[in-house]
Amino acid sequence: MCRHLGYLGPPVPLKDLLLDPPHALVTQAWAPRDMRGGGTINADGFGVGWYPSASEPVRYASAMPVWSDPALPQLAAVTSAGAALAAVRSATVGMPVTEPAAAPFVSGRWLFSHNGVVRDWPRSLTGLAGELPVKNLLTLPAPTDSAVLFALLLAKLRSGEPAAKAVAGVVTEVLAVAPGSRLNLLLTDGAQLVATTLGHSLSVRARRGSVLIASEPLDADPAWQSIPDNRLVVATASSLSVEEIS
Ligand code: GLN
Repeated sequence: MCRHLGYLGPPVPLKDLLLDPPHALVTQAWAPRDMRGGGTINADGFGVGWYPSASEPVRYASAMPVWSDPALPQLAAVTSAGAALAAVRSATVGMPVTEPAAAPFVSGRWLFSHNGVVRDWPRSLTGLAGELPVKNLLTLPAPTDSAVLFALLLAKLRSGEPAAKAVAGVVTEVLAVAPGSRLNLLLTDGAQLVATTLGHSLSVRARRGSVLIASEPLDADPAWQSIPDNRLVVATASSLSVEEIS
């Protein structure tokens, strides 16, 4: 299943996250180390979103494997960001392989990625999705479990829920109707990162003034901390909390 990462801190070239480290996201696309039975490679598209100063995020994505994108090396070399979220995708069987289905999903300041699968899709989500405004369902970027998870999350965020509570709430509600789902979520507004571990790997590297959250460590830095399953991670560039999902 997909691999994703989120970064907050001093601006860094996107290539420092996506391309250059020994186990950068592009390497995790073709040689992931910890897929936990959820697929083999992540070749069904990729996406990266970042925040040019004081504006809404920009998203660059494709349905092609990340290693085959002709523009990415140059783009990632000349673009720096102090906040970014990126993903490489292994599409769940039965879901479309299209550019809009590749994370990150974007709405306003929010960027979102889901690593995993909602069991018994789409039947299991019909009840929760049925409570959303019809317009939100008609304008989903793709008919996938991940896109519906983002719509459920946005409904909570728009009603004023703090990001961490909204993410934990979606996980709890979806698990109740779709037990056994794998729900590694990753959300940012450019100032805060919220992530969950539920069925997939996740590691965090917190340094003074920066935080990097990734499905797999990007390098051998001993500062990488593996997050156990069933956790909610909330981070800013200068703070980190990890708690059990109740
Ligand atoms: N189920 C989601 C999709 O198909 C996420 C897939 C994944 O994590 N591999 O896009």
